Amino acid sequence: MNYYGSPVARLIEEFSKLPGVGTKSAQRMAFFILNAPTERADQLAQAIAAAKAQAKHCTQCYNLTDTDTCYICANGSRDAATIMVVESPQDMAAYEKTREYDGTYHVLHGAISPMDGVGPDQLRIKELLMRLNNPDAPITEVIVATNPNVEGEATAMYLSRLLKPLGIKTTRIAHGVPVGGDLEYVDSVTLLRALQWRREL
Ligand code: ZN
Repeated sequence: MNYYGSPVARLIEEFSKLPGVGTKSAQRMAFFILNAPTERADQLAQAIAAAKAQAKHCTQCYNLTDTDTCYICANGSRDAATIMVVESPQDMAAYEKTREYDGTYHVLHGAISPMDGVGPDQLRIKELLMRLNNPDAPITEVIVATNPNVEGEATAMYLSRLLKPLGIKTTRIAHGVPVGGDLEYVDSVTLLRALQWRREL
């Protein structure tokens, strides 16, 4: 039933297609826009159009950027010999927030998932190999920071098989119990991993 007229119904429908947004939230967003000043609605529309038009992948690491080379690859003071492989730009941002990592990244844009029809060819793995084979910029370590789930682990295994023959040090981020967590509530796979990868105090 179309209670509000077609343009409003369409706006609600478009919002409801966004991830994590149900019909109720979509209605709230649509009425917020309708009740907001026109400039505010225009700014939102322009921000969406500009992001779509200008966002592209870095030619080196495939992070999102609006220039040819992202700000990390363009930063000469970062350790270009270390590459952290992540699944998404959001994962890269999560590591950047720690302010502890000063190497570069390589964004795969997904993980191997035969169930979803995603194989190595759909990811930026070829491009990673090209970076590793570049004699002008030798790489000393590849840190595999894919997610600790089935797809992320499959991707990590695939990469380790691929990278071993190249003789480049390949490491995997550790998984363990969350900081501030309570052992009682941690799942057994995580507990087992934490035990396997324990370190000396
Ligand atoms: Zn980059």
